[in-house]
Amino acid sequence: MNLARFPRHPLTFGPTPIEALPRLSAHLGGKVEIYAKREDMNSGLAFGGNKIRKLEYLVPEAIAEGCDTLVTIGGVQSNHTRQVAAVAAKLGMKCRLVQESWVNWHDAVYDRVGNILMSRVLGAQVELVDEGFGIGFKESWENALEEVRKKGGKPYAIPAGASDHRLGGLGFVGFAEEVRAQEAALGFRFDTIIVCSVTGSTQAGMVVGFAADGRADRVIGIDGSATPAETKAQVLRIAERTADLVDLGRPITEADVILDTRYAYPEYGLPSAETLEAIRLSARLEGMMTDPVYEGKSMQGMIDMIRREEIPAGSKVLYAHLGGVPAINGYSYLFRNG
Ligand SMILES: *Cc1c(COP(=O)(O)O)cnc(C)c1O
Repeated sequence: MNLARFPRHPLTFGPTPIEALPRLSAHLGGKVEIYAKREDMNSGLAFGGNKIRKLEYLVPEAIAEGCDTLVTIGGVQSNHTRQVAAVAAKLGMKCRLVQESWVNWHDAVYDRVGNILMSRVLGAQVELVDEGFGIGFKESWENALEEVRKKGGKPYAIPAGASDHRLGGLGFVGFAEEVRAQEAALGFRFDTIIVCSVTGSTQAGMVVGFAADGRADRVIGIDGSATPAETKAQVLRIAERTADLVDLGRPITEADVILDTRYAYPEYGLPSAETLEAIRLSARLEGMMTDPVYEGKSMQGMIDMIRREEIPAGSKVLYAHLGGVPAINGYSYLFRNG
């Protein structure tokens, strides 16, 4: 496997810490040891998160092509668009964001706080568009690109979640290599890796990276999209493409992609009662915050699988904490009593 031949523009602090979660482990029976890899604190760029690690491999192309504006798309409380806005600021580029109505949630200040607040402060041009959820290519995004071109700018197009892009899977191949180095220092290997999946390149990169040591199907994707057929197909497609790029040496197949569809209900962006319980539990036992859209659902899934003993006694589990906490500000009503 050869990741090193792709240029990487450093935007992160370096390897992210792996932290033991002993109180959560004990609370769930003490038979499974839980650790978190803290991608949520990977960078000083506006609180960081998983998109920063992906963008490290897209930015060299944007610079090489002489682009002056990063253009991307997401929901109103998108973590991805906030991270692109911060990266653009750091690079001295402009940023054009299309923010669609992907989530049926109407807290009074939903479009004023958290991620979108930061994107505005970071200087991005934010456009709110009344279109529903979808991880595919959108007309609103094409329009934004065309508008930048008409004004004489040179856009660099970043799809939703920086996923369906030739280079989108590379960052999380690097994540797997980083985990292997950390495992060597820790003196043990993780049996199960838990990751939230929506636009797919986080899981896809991990699948390829962990395929290198036979653990592709030990990466358990927890669907957060509630449109799991699309997400699973996209994870597989990106993983196939990424395996080719890095010369994995074997094709990725459907059996390598595990996507658990049990926890995305009631729909994308809306937490269930069990999601809220998981958010409160990890906060109160470990001081670790998660959000109602993504990480609260993967936390819920991990907790449920441990309770059901689907993750067997004696396992060491790595929970990939991908960030996203700023969005919780858009859900203040749910947490008005804690
Ligand atoms: C984007 C995001 C995810 C999902 O990652 P994908 O690569 O889109 O599948 C999960 N958690 C958080 C916090 C995110 O911002």
